[in-house]
Amino acid sequence: MKVPVIDFDACEGCGTCESLCPEVFEMRDDEKAYVKNAQACDTCDCQEAMDSCPVECITWQEE
Ligand code: SF4
Repeated sequence: MKVPVIDFDACEGCGTCESLCPEVFEMRDDEKAYVKNAQACDTCDCQEAMDSCPVECITWQEE
C-alpha cells in the first residue's frame, strides 16, 4: 500500500497539505505537518497535496 510520508526537516509548516487533506495531514505545535491517518488517503487527493507543497517534501512510500 502506498502511503504519504513527510520529510520533517524540509517541511516549512505552511499548512497547505492539511487544508487540502485534513483527514490525512495534521499540523502540530512544532509547526510541522504529520500524517495522522494514512488509511484516509483514499478519501481525498493526497497527490494534490504533494503537488501543492511548496518545498515538495511529501512523497509516496510503499508500506
Ligand atoms: S504542504 Fe509541505 S511544507 Fe506545507 S505544511 Fe504540508 S508538508 Fe509542510
